[in-house]
Amino acid sequence: MVCDFCEQPSPDGTYDRVVGLDMCTDCRQFGIRDPLSARGYRVLFKQWTTFSNSERSPYHYRVTVVLPVTLEVRLRCAREGWQHRLVKLFRSELQVGDPLFDDLIHVGSAPSAALADLLASEGLQSAILAVGVSGTFTLQDNQLEGYYRSAMPLSTDEAKTLIHEQAGGAIHVVRWHVRTTESTR
Ligand SMILES: [Zn+2]
Repeated sequence: MVCDFCEQPSPDGTYDRVVGLDMCTDCRQFGIRDPLSARGYRVLFKQWTTFSNSERSPYHYRVTVVLPVTLEVRLRCAREGWQHRLVKLFRSELQVGDPLFDDLIHVGSAPSAALADLLASEGLQSAILAVGVSGTFTLQDNQLEGYYRSAMPLSTDEAKTLIHEQAGGAIHVVRWHVRTTESTR
C-alpha cells in the first residue's frame, strides 16, 4: 500500500482518507506540495478578506492546482441557487445521481458522456462538495480551481484540509484523464 499523494508507503503504516484517497502521515504533517510537484502538479493557495462593505462571507480561499495534463472537458460547479433553479426549468442539467450532490451543486457545463463519466467519481464529488457548498469548482485546460468563501475564518487545519481535498480532486481528474485517453487509443 502506498500514499495516493506521494506514492510512498506511510512511515508508520497508517493512512487518512481524503476524498476517497489514502494520505500518509508525512503528507498530512509536512504537506503535499513538494511530493505533488515531483509528479508534475503545482498547488497554489491564496486567501484574502473583503471587509469593505457589509460582506456576509468576507473570508476567501482559493486552491489552484496546475495539472500535469491538459483536459478536453470543462466543468464549472457552484452551489445551487435560485437563479440556477430558474435556468433548470429551461435546460436539462447533468445530474450525477447522488442526491446530496445533485441538490447542492449546480453543474454549469453542457452535459456530455465524458463529463458524466468524470463526475461519477465519488472522490471527485467530495472534492467539489468541499468547496461548492459555499463557492465554486472549475476545471479548464490544465487547471483545477476550488474557491471557497466563508463567514468565519478557517483554522490552519481547516485550510490545510481544503488544500488536501482539492489536490485529491486533481489526482482523481488526472487518473480519469489518463484512463479515458488510453482507452480511446
Ligand atoms: Zn504521502
